[in-house]
Amino acid sequence: MKTLETPCYVIHKKELEEGIALLKSALEKNWSNYMVGYSFKTNALPWALIQMKKAGFHAEVVSEDEYDLAKYLGFSHVIYNGPVKGKRTFLHALQNGAIVNLDAKRELDWLEEVGIQNGKVGLRVNFDLEAVCPGETSPGEEGGRFGFSYETGEWKWALDRLTHMGIKLSGIHLHASTKTRSVAIYRALAQMAVKLKQEFDLKPEYVDIGGGYFGGMDNRPKFPDYMKAIREELMAAYTPEETMLIVEPGTSLITPPIEYMTTVVDCKNTNKGRFVVTDGSRSDIDPLHGKSSYFHKLLYNEGTEYTQTPEGRPIVERQTICGFTCMENDRLFTAEQRPELQVGDHIIYQKVGGYTMCLTPLFIRYFPTVYAEDGGEFTCIRERWSVEEYVRKSDLKAEG
Ligand SMILES: *Cc1c(COP(=O)(O)O)cnc(C)c1O
Repeated sequence: MKTLETPCYVIHKKELEEGIALLKSALEKNWSNYMVGYSFKTNALPWALIQMKKAGFHAEVVSEDEYDLAKYLGFSHVIYNGPVKGKRTFLHALQNGAIVNLDAKRELDWLEEVGIQNGKVGLRVNFDLEAVCPGETSPGEEGGRFGFSYETGEWKWALDRLTHMGIKLSGIHLHASTKTRSVAIYRALAQMAVKLKQEFDLKPEYVDIGGGYFGGMDNRPKFPDYMKAIREELMAAYTPEETMLIVEPGTSLITPPIEYMTTVVDCKNTNKGRFVVTDGSRSDIDPLHGKSSYFHKLLYNEGTEYTQTPEGRPIVERQTICGFTCMENDRLFTAEQRPELQVGDHIIYQKVGGYTMCLTPLFIRYFPTVYAEDGGEFTCIRERWSVEEYVRKSDLKAEG
């Protein structure tokens, strides 16, 4: 293994491409009239965004900055979502062929000002998904906060406002955030798309079913399972000839191919146990501090080689793996009954691409290096941030 500067992220290109190919084939097989909008917020590393663009995917963005980034990187198609779009980019999007899924009342006011020149307008639906899939949604009983409520009539109100403006609804947007990422969720979303079409006599050009899928995990649903279920439900009222299916994957594509590599820098034995200090941090792979375990492997340094099964190292009952930050809670996991870790060994965390890099803080140490691995070759695709990047745009004379 090549010596990489740690801590670092490594993106395995082949795995990324396998995920992309599986998604495309699942869509082609089930709903050949489709569009993929990659969710920028899940991981907006420029290199990864460019891979998505090369795959023919469009940009799914939820802020002015993300919108500007998509334009900067040359994405020709943008799907603009979220409750807090900026007015400047909202209007730009409508004039430049974007798909804009409305999620706030002020957007209807903005729309009244300019109309739609070139883009397409959809309405995000808020409905009681928890009632259909109990225990599965992220907000649970408190209910989701995105979109216009079907139950209270706000969705119909928004639809009527569009009609009064002479604007035809182009699409229905249904993204939901769930704990289970189950196939049943997508059946429920597709059923809702059917219900809305029938109840309001709509002819949508697209149904945007959102993101939130699993990808690259054993014993979990995969793209073909989701897309088949979506097709089965949509068929009750839609055809691929008339209506495009839009999906907005993030995690399912970008989580599996990314690893985070750390090196052991010190080991301490206290009367409470053995602490293994590494140059990585929990902030880099669990910035929301919500995970309780990590896919990982231990690579023991045997001079010129690394092995997962070292010879001659004592088995240690408990070793607490810690990060570099000066926070007591920067502890990653406890290795139980594993060979003794020593300085120079590596701990590699797997499947850490989603909601990490773009949530990684500039805390104590700046952004780590990112490498891409392709056929055993490693290329640096983002250099480690140093003081130079950190102070950019700051007033260093402190004159303000
Ligand atoms: C976050 C988000 C996604 C992507 O979700 P993943 O869980 O990363 O697949 C897609 N669409 C919208 C509107 C989102 O907010």
